[in-house]
Amino acid sequence: MLCPRPRQGFHERSSALTLALLSKVKLCSQVQTPTTSVVKALGDLLQEEELGQWRRTHYSSEINPSASDSEVLAMGWVSGVRDHGNIRFVMLRDMRGEIQITAKRGECSDRVFDMIKEVKEHTSLGVRGKVRSQQKAPNGAEIVPLELKAFSVSKKAAPFLIQGKTSSVGIDTRLDLRAVDLRRISLSTIFRIRQTALNAIREFLARQQFIEVNTPKMIATATEGGAALFPIFYYDREAFLAQSPQLYKEQLTMAFENVFEIGPIFRAEPSRTNRHLSEATSVDVEKAFVDYGDVIALLERMVLHIVDSVKEKNRDEIKSLELKIPTVELPFPKYTYSDLIERLQEAGERIHWGDDISPQVMKGLQDERTNGFYFITDWPASVKPFYVKPKSDSAEERISESFDLMYGSLELSSGSTRINRKDQLVARMAKQGLKPEAFDYHLRVFDYGVPPHAGFGLGMERLLMAITGTENIRDTTLYPRDIDRLAP
Ligand code: ATP
Ligand code: MG
Repeated sequence: MLCPRPRQGFHERSSALTLALLSKVKLCSQVQTPTTSVVKALGDLLQEEELGQWRRTHYSSEINPSASDSEVLAMGWVSGVRDHGNIRFVMLRDMRGEIQITAKRGECSDRVFDMIKEVKEHTSLGVRGKVRSQQKAPNGAEIVPLELKAFSVSKKAAPFLIQGKTSSVGIDTRLDLRAVDLRRISLSTIFRIRQTALNAIREFLARQQFIEVNTPKMIATATEGGAALFPIFYYDREAFLAQSPQLYKEQLTMAFENVFEIGPIFRAEPSRTNRHLSEATSVDVEKAFVDYGDVIALLERMVLHIVDSVKEKNRDEIKSLELKIPTVELPFPKYTYSDLIERLQEAGERIHWGDDISPQVMKGLQDERTNGFYFITDWPASVKPFYVKPKSDSAEERISESFDLMYGSLELSSGSTRINRKDQLVARMAKQGLKPEAFDYHLRVFDYGVPPHAGFGLGMERLLMAITGTENIRDTTLYPRDIDRLAP
């Protein structure tokens, strides 16, 4: 029979009690006798119990003065405990907020009072009790407990505190125990905002008569050549994880005209930055019979709708966390690439026409128009992928019908008019050193009338960085993947 482990390690447990417990357990390991009763005798009242017939009657947000005197059953996890001798407080958090459980000696049964003493942070708990008005408590009410059930008792103190906006430990410690880290309100709020943003995107695009699609994530050849791919085994062949749904969404404009996909993209990004993940979520949009000017207008209206929705639907969280959600005014400022290069050169940056524009370089530009959302348009064709349409009126087609949506120095989206003619596409591939044969499955549909089309890919995690003011992309991702991290 196993010796029950002492539940030590909590800062709150008195050292005398811990010592007493340890000595009993030591004894137990020496004599190898069952010790359940010993541990119980030490005050282990809070045993783990089954859910059984217990069901929540009220969420924390529903427990307010208007529910006074009614009996409720609340469930959640313990976000804090305070012991003032004859009065003890347990804060119970659920998906909608927080409620205070107040146990006073004499007011609740001795058994419940003693059980409450053993409740530790993070324990999964249910409480049956009576609601009472309490000005100082969240929602102006508290629960006076009649009965407690611990569904799962926390066994250790977490290596970080989950109260407060910032954490005392580095991001790696937090990521190692991500599900616990996500109990931090400032962090979980980012994902509630993500939910609002996703709903807003779907709502907006459905209104514009787009249909949502899913394209393969296991593919035979690179989408764009450039970005590094993750090779995988596909039966007896080598295959890759898709770096973008680009070619599929373009093909789908043939049958559906307007399509979008919200899905993962995989990129073997070799560098460690605060804006790159190996697995990111992309909002990919493609529309037939339009050019890049039309999708620029579509994208900025979509961003406005997303930000407006967040401001409305997440109002309370934004207020309590004092989040600074960006102001969005249409139209967004637009710079052509060539104009911007000139401005950057005037600002003393060492950059030449034809170079990509790095965030570091953008930070050098002191222009208030580039603080918020803005577009950089008409990029050199040489820095854009092969499917991007060159401007036919530009000298030697050096400039392309393309754009990046930026937020400050952060790139959020890239888009363009796409090439819809086969010969032009093959020529661009050759110019970029790609083998047209490798894209045969794609090129063959161009024999059947691909419509003129344009679209963009918008990084969901980066958009959330912009909306919530988050510095590191790992905190707008539940379980980030990067060059150093493949778990949890
Ligand atoms: P960057 O230059 O910042 O590496 P990119 O130009 O290679 O990005 P695109 O291929 O244009 O990226 O992809 C469209 C959008 O998808 C980007 O604007 C960005 O928001 C998002 N994105 C691309 N790669 C990543 C990544 N590794 N991690 C997170 N988001 C990404
Ligand atoms: Mg880009």
